[in-house]
Amino acid sequence: MKFPISDMHCDLLSYLARIPGANPYAKDDIACAVPWLHAGGVRMQILAIYTDVKSESMDLAARQAVIFDELCQKHKDDFTLIDTDFLQNWEKQNCIGIKASVENAAGFGNESANWDDIYNQFDFILGKVKSLAYISLTHHTENRFGGGNYTKGIGLKEDGKKLLDYMAGKQIPVDLSHSSDLLAEGILNHIDSNKLDIAVIASHSNFRTIWNHPRNLTDEFAKEIIHRGGIIGVNFLRAFLDPEVPERLFDHIFHGFQIGGEKSICFGADYFYTKDFEDSSRHPFYFPLVENAGKYPSLIESLKDKLTGEDLENLAYRNALTFFRKIQS
Ligand SMILES: [Zn+2]
Repeated sequence: MKFPISDMHCDLLSYLARIPGANPYAKDDIACAVPWLHAGGVRMQILAIYTDVKSESMDLAARQAVIFDELCQKHKDDFTLIDTDFLQNWEKQNCIGIKASVENAAGFGNESANWDDIYNQFDFILGKVKSLAYISLTHHTENRFGGGNYTKGIGLKEDGKKLLDYMAGKQIPVDLSHSSDLLAEGILNHIDSNKLDIAVIASHSNFRTIWNHPRNLTDEFAKEIIHRGGIIGVNFLRAFLDPEVPERLFDHIFHGFQIGGEKSICFGADYFYTKDFEDSSRHPFYFPLVENAGKYPSLIESLKDKLTGEDLENLAYRNALTFFRKIQS
Protein backbone atom coordinates (compact mmCIF):
# COMPACT_ATOMS: atom_id res chain seq x y z
CA MET A 1 0.00 0.00 0.00
CA LYS A 2 1.49 3.33 -1.03
CA PHE A 3 -0.09 6.72 -0.53
CA PRO A 4 1.11 10.19 -1.39
CA ILE A 5 2.20 11.98 1.77
CA SER A 6 1.41 15.40 3.19
CA ASP A 7 3.73 16.70 5.89
CA MET A 8 3.03 19.86 7.84
CA HIS A 9 6.49 20.77 9.11
CA CYS A 10 10.18 20.63 8.26
CA ASP A 11 13.11 23.01 8.67
CA LEU A 12 14.80 22.72 5.29
CA LEU A 13 14.74 26.52 4.84
CA SER A 14 16.57 27.40 8.05
CA TYR A 15 19.16 24.70 7.25
CA LEU A 16 19.69 26.25 3.80
CA ALA A 17 19.86 29.78 5.26
CA ARG A 18 22.17 29.00 8.18
CA ILE A 19 24.59 26.23 7.29
CA PRO A 20 27.55 27.02 5.00
CA GLY A 21 27.55 24.76 1.93
CA ALA A 22 24.02 23.52 2.63
CA ASN A 23 22.10 22.09 -0.29
CA PRO A 24 18.59 20.64 -0.54
CA TYR A 25 19.86 17.32 -1.94
CA ALA A 26 22.26 16.52 0.93
CA LYS A 27 20.81 13.23 2.23
CA ASP A 28 23.40 12.91 4.99
CA ASP A 29 22.74 16.39 6.33
CA ILE A 30 19.00 16.53 6.74
CA ALA A 31 16.22 13.93 6.90
CA CYS A 32 13.93 15.94 4.60
CA ALA A 33 16.49 16.33 1.77
CA VAL A 34 14.92 16.08 -1.69
CA PRO A 35 15.96 12.42 -2.31
CA TRP A 36 14.27 11.40 0.95
CA LEU A 37 11.12 13.33 0.08
CA HIS A 38 10.94 11.56 -3.29
CA ALA A 39 11.63 8.16 -1.72
CA GLY A 40 8.82 8.73 0.76
CA GLY A 41 6.31 9.79 -1.88
CA VAL A 42 5.88 13.24 -0.31
CA ARG A 43 3.48 15.35 -2.42
CA MET A 44 2.89 18.18 0.01
CA GLN A 45 5.65 19.56 2.24
CA ILE A 46 5.31 22.64 4.40
CA LEU A 47 8.63 24.46 4.81
CA ALA A 48 8.93 26.53 7.97
CA ILE A 49 10.60 29.92 8.07
CA TYR A 50 12.16 29.42 11.49
CA THR A 51 13.90 32.05 13.59
CA ASP A 52 14.91 32.47 17.20
CA VAL A 53 14.09 35.58 19.22
CA LYS A 54 17.14 37.60 18.16
CA SER A 55 17.86 41.05 16.80
CA GLU A 56 18.66 39.52 13.38
CA SER A 57 15.47 37.43 13.23
CA MET A 58 13.85 39.60 10.54
CA ASP A 59 16.87 39.34 8.22
CA LEU A 60 17.05 35.59 8.71
CA ALA A 61 13.32 35.20 7.96
CA ALA A 62 13.55 37.38 4.84
CA ARG A 63 16.48 35.27 3.62
CA GLN A 64 14.44 32.08 4.06
CA ALA A 65 11.52 33.57 2.12
CA VAL A 66 13.93 34.34 -0.74
CA ILE A 67 15.34 30.78 -0.57
CA PHE A 68 11.79 29.39 -0.74
CA ASP A 69 11.12 31.41 -3.89
CA GLU A 70 14.42 30.18 -5.39
CA LEU A 71 13.52 26.53 -4.68
CA CYS A 72 10.35 27.01 -6.74
CA GLN A 73 12.19 28.82 -9.57
CA LYS A 74 15.44 26.85 -9.82
CA HIS A 75 14.31 23.31 -9.04
CA LYS A 76 11.18 22.99 -11.13
CA ASP A 77 11.73 19.25 -11.68
CA ASP A 78 11.47 18.65 -7.94
CA PHE A 79 9.37 21.44 -6.42
CA THR A 80 6.17 23.23 -7.29
CA LEU A 81 4.16 25.78 -5.36
CA ILE A 82 1.05 24.53 -3.56
CA ASP A 83 -1.52 26.92 -5.02
CA THR A 84 -5.22 26.52 -5.85
CA ASP A 85 -4.36 24.83 -9.15
CA PHE A 86 -2.08 22.33 -7.40
CA LEU A 87 -4.75 21.49 -4.82
CA GLN A 88 -7.48 21.04 -7.44
CA ASN A 89 -5.29 18.86 -9.67
CA TRP A 90 -3.74 16.85 -6.87
CA GLU A 91 -3.95 13.50 -8.68
CA LYS A 92 -1.89 14.78 -11.61
CA GLN A 93 1.03 16.10 -9.56
CA ASN A 94 4.48 14.55 -9.89
CA CYS A 95 6.54 17.16 -8.05
CA ILE A 96 6.84 17.87 -4.35
CA GLY A 97 4.31 20.62 -3.66
CA ILE A 98 5.68 23.17 -1.20
CA LYS A 99 4.20 25.96 0.87
CA ALA A 100 5.97 28.12 3.44
CA SER A 101 4.95 28.80 7.02
CA VAL A 102 6.32 31.03 9.77
CA GLU A 103 7.59 29.37 12.93
CA ASN A 104 8.00 32.25 15.36
CA ALA A 105 6.61 35.69 14.61
CA ALA A 106 10.04 37.05 15.61
CA GLY A 107 10.61 36.63 11.87
CA PHE A 108 8.06 39.42 11.31
CA GLY A 109 9.25 41.61 14.14
CA ASN A 110 12.20 41.46 16.50
CA GLU A 111 11.78 42.88 19.99
CA SER A 112 12.59 46.47 18.95
CA ALA A 113 10.86 46.73 15.54
CA ASN A 114 8.11 49.29 15.11
CA TRP A 115 4.76 48.29 13.63
CA ASP A 116 5.41 49.88 10.23
CA ASP A 117 8.45 47.61 9.91
CA ILE A 118 6.47 44.60 11.11
CA TYR A 119 3.67 45.13 8.59
CA ASN A 120 6.27 45.70 5.83
CA GLN A 121 8.14 42.56 6.76
CA PHE A 122 4.89 40.56 6.86
CA ASP A 123 3.91 41.82 3.41
CA PHE A 124 7.41 41.19 2.01
CA ILE A 125 7.48 37.57 3.23
CA LEU A 126 3.93 36.87 2.05
CA GLY A 127 4.76 38.44 -1.33
CA LYS A 128 7.81 36.19 -1.76
CA VAL A 129 6.22 32.91 -0.69
CA LYS A 130 2.71 33.72 -2.11
CA SER A 131 0.76 32.04 0.71
CA LEU A 132 1.46 30.84 4.22
CA ALA A 133 0.37 27.45 5.55
CA TYR A 134 0.35 28.82 9.11
CA ILE A 135 1.96 31.23 11.54
CA SER A 136 3.21 30.25 14.98
CA LEU A 137 3.45 33.32 17.23
CA THR A 138 6.30 31.90 19.29
CA HIS A 139 8.94 29.17 19.48
CA HIS A 140 10.21 27.76 22.80
CA THR A 141 10.78 31.13 24.44
CA GLU A 142 8.88 34.32 25.12
CA ASN A 143 8.74 37.12 22.57
CA ARG A 144 6.84 40.41 22.17
CA PHE A 145 3.77 38.51 20.89
CA GLY A 146 3.38 35.96 23.69
CA GLY A 147 4.77 33.00 25.64
CA GLY A 148 6.39 29.97 23.98
CA ASN A 149 5.92 26.35 24.97
CA TYR A 150 8.59 26.50 27.71
CA THR A 151 7.27 29.71 29.27
CA LYS A 152 4.52 28.54 31.54
CA GLY A 153 2.26 31.38 32.64
CA ILE A 154 3.02 33.80 29.79
CA GLY A 155 0.05 34.27 27.50
CA LEU A 156 -1.05 36.47 24.58
CA LYS A 157 0.37 40.01 24.64
CA GLU A 158 -1.02 43.16 23.02
CA ASP A 159 1.36 42.75 20.05
CA GLY A 160 0.14 39.18 19.62
CA LYS A 161 -3.44 40.45 19.39
CA LYS A 162 -2.38 43.03 16.82
CA LEU A 163 -0.69 40.35 14.71
CA LEU A 164 -3.76 38.09 14.86
CA ASP A 165 -5.91 41.05 13.76
CA TYR A 166 -3.59 41.54 10.77
CA MET A 167 -3.63 37.82 9.87
CA ALA A 168 -7.43 37.61 9.93
CA GLY A 169 -9.15 37.13 6.58
CA LYS A 170 -5.85 36.38 4.79
CA GLN A 171 -6.42 32.57 4.69
CA ILE A 172 -3.53 32.00 7.10
CA PRO A 173 -4.13 29.60 10.01
CA VAL A 174 -2.54 30.13 13.41
CA ASP A 175 -0.38 27.29 14.74
CA LEU A 176 -0.53 26.30 18.44
CA SER A 177 2.45 23.89 18.28
CA HIS A 178 4.81 26.24 20.13
CA SER A 179 2.32 28.05 22.36
CA SER A 180 2.32 27.97 26.13
CA ASP A 181 -1.06 26.76 27.36
CA LEU A 182 -1.89 30.30 28.38
CA LEU A 183 -0.96 31.63 24.93
CA ALA A 184 -3.11 28.97 23.23
CA GLU A 185 -6.01 29.99 25.44
CA GLY A 186 -5.40 33.68 24.73
CA ILE A 187 -5.30 33.08 20.96
CA LEU A 188 -8.57 31.12 21.00
CA ASN A 189 -10.28 33.76 23.16
CA HIS A 190 -9.06 36.64 21.01
CA ILE A 191 -10.24 34.91 17.80
CA ASP A 192 -13.66 34.19 19.31
CA SER A 193 -14.33 37.49 21.03
CA ASN A 194 -13.38 39.45 17.89
CA LYS A 195 -14.94 36.93 15.49
CA LEU A 196 -11.67 36.75 13.53
CA ASP A 197 -11.54 34.59 10.41
CA ILE A 198 -8.51 32.47 11.43
CA ALA A 199 -8.31 28.67 11.34
CA VAL A 200 -6.48 26.97 14.22
CA ILE A 201 -4.07 24.05 13.84
CA ALA A 202 -1.14 22.31 15.52
CA SER A 203 1.35 21.70 12.72
CA HIS A 204 3.78 19.42 14.57
CA SER A 205 2.56 18.32 18.01
CA ASN A 206 1.78 15.13 19.87
CA PHE A 207 -0.47 14.41 22.84
CA ARG A 208 0.29 15.05 26.51
CA THR A 209 -2.01 12.18 27.52
CA ILE A 210 0.43 9.78 25.83
CA TRP A 211 3.68 11.57 26.70
CA ASN A 212 3.66 14.37 29.23
CA HIS A 213 5.79 17.10 27.66
CA PRO A 214 5.13 20.85 27.36
CA ARG A 215 5.59 20.58 23.57
CA ASN A 216 2.61 18.20 23.39
CA LEU A 217 -1.07 19.18 23.33
CA THR A 218 -3.48 18.72 26.18
CA ASP A 219 -6.62 16.89 25.09
CA GLU A 220 -8.53 20.10 25.75
CA PHE A 221 -6.59 22.04 23.10
CA ALA A 222 -6.45 19.08 20.71
CA LYS A 223 -10.24 18.74 20.86
CA GLU A 224 -10.62 22.49 20.37
CA ILE A 225 -8.57 22.27 17.15
CA ILE A 226 -10.61 19.26 15.98
CA HIS A 227 -13.87 21.01 16.83
CA ARG A 228 -12.82 24.03 14.75
CA GLY A 229 -11.96 21.86 11.73
CA GLY A 230 -8.18 22.27 12.07
CA ILE A 231 -5.43 19.68 11.62
CA ILE A 232 -2.89 18.16 13.99
CA GLY A 233 0.44 16.91 12.60
CA VAL A 234 2.03 14.07 14.56
CA ASN A 235 5.65 14.89 15.38
CA PHE A 236 8.38 12.25 14.87
CA LEU A 237 10.94 13.65 17.31
CA ARG A 238 11.97 11.04 19.87
CA ALA A 239 11.82 13.59 22.72
CA PHE A 240 8.12 14.30 22.14
CA LEU A 241 7.02 10.69 21.52
CA ASP A 242 8.62 8.92 24.49
CA PRO A 243 12.43 8.82 24.20
CA GLU A 244 12.63 5.10 25.05
CA VAL A 245 9.76 3.54 23.08
CA PRO A 246 9.65 3.81 19.26
CA GLU A 247 6.16 2.31 19.03
CA ARG A 248 4.80 5.19 21.09
CA LEU A 249 4.47 6.92 17.73
CA PHE A 250 1.55 4.62 17.00
CA ASP A 251 -0.06 5.43 20.35
CA HIS A 252 0.03 9.15 19.55
CA ILE A 253 -1.57 8.51 16.16
CA PHE A 254 -4.26 6.26 17.67
CA HIS A 255 -4.95 8.80 20.38
CA GLY A 256 -5.60 11.43 17.71
CA PHE A 257 -8.26 9.14 16.23
CA GLN A 258 -9.69 8.25 19.65
CA ILE A 259 -10.42 11.82 20.64
CA GLY A 260 -12.40 12.42 17.44
CA GLY A 261 -9.61 13.57 15.17
CA GLU A 262 -10.18 11.20 12.25
CA LYS A 263 -10.52 14.22 9.95
CA SER A 264 -7.74 16.20 11.65
CA ILE A 265 -4.80 13.90 12.23
CA CYS A 266 -1.91 14.13 9.76
CA PHE A 267 1.91 14.15 9.76
CA GLY A 268 4.14 16.94 11.13
CA ALA A 269 7.45 15.07 11.10
CA ASP A 270 9.72 17.99 12.12
CA TYR A 271 12.89 17.02 10.26
CA PHE A 272 15.68 19.53 10.80
CA TYR A 273 19.47 19.87 10.73
CA THR A 274 20.60 18.19 13.93
CA LYS A 275 24.39 18.13 13.55
CA ASP A 276 25.07 21.38 15.42
CA PHE A 277 22.84 20.45 18.36
CA GLU A 278 24.89 20.22 21.54
CA ASP A 279 22.47 18.51 23.96
CA SER A 280 23.69 14.90 23.63
CA SER A 281 20.57 13.50 25.32
CA ARG A 282 18.60 14.46 22.22
CA HIS A 283 20.74 12.26 19.91
CA PRO A 284 19.56 10.34 17.98
CA PHE A 285 16.73 12.75 17.30
CA TYR A 286 14.56 10.17 15.55
CA PHE A 287 13.91 6.47 16.00
CA PRO A 288 14.99 4.35 12.99
CA LEU A 289 11.36 3.69 11.96
CA VAL A 290 10.94 7.37 11.04
CA GLU A 291 14.56 8.53 10.76
CA ASN A 292 13.98 10.29 7.43
CA ALA A 293 11.19 11.13 4.99
CA GLY A 294 12.01 8.02 2.95
CA LYS A 295 10.44 5.97 5.75
CA TYR A 296 6.84 6.98 5.06
CA PRO A 297 6.00 3.91 2.93
CA SER A 298 7.24 1.49 5.60
CA LEU A 299 5.46 3.50 8.31
CA ILE A 300 2.20 3.27 6.32
CA GLU A 301 2.85 -0.45 5.85
CA SER A 302 3.24 -1.01 9.59
CA LEU A 303 -0.03 0.85 10.27
CA LYS A 304 -2.12 -0.99 7.73
CA ASP A 305 -3.28 -3.74 10.12
CA LYS A 306 -4.06 -1.19 12.81
CA LEU A 307 -6.13 1.40 10.93
CA THR A 308 -8.84 1.11 8.28
CA GLY A 309 -7.82 1.94 4.71
CA GLU A 310 -9.84 5.14 4.87
CA ASP A 311 -8.27 6.27 8.15
CA LEU A 312 -4.80 5.51 6.82
CA GLU A 313 -5.44 7.50 3.65
CA ASN A 314 -6.78 10.44 5.67
CA LEU A 315 -3.70 10.35 7.90
CA ALA A 316 -1.26 10.03 4.99
CA TYR A 317 -2.49 13.01 2.97
CA ARG A 318 -6.22 13.51 2.65
CA ASN A 319 -6.91 15.41 5.89
CA ALA A 320 -4.23 17.98 5.10
CA LEU A 321 -5.31 18.21 1.47
CA THR A 322 -8.95 18.75 2.44
CA PHE A 323 -7.94 21.37 5.01
CA PHE A 324 -5.91 23.45 2.55
CA ARG A 325 -8.58 23.15 -0.15
CA LYS A 326 -11.04 24.55 2.40
CA ILE A 327 -8.68 27.37 3.49
CA GLN A 328 -7.78 28.45 -0.05
CA SER A 329 -11.29 28.35 -1.47
ZN1 LIG B 1 9.00 23.44 15.91
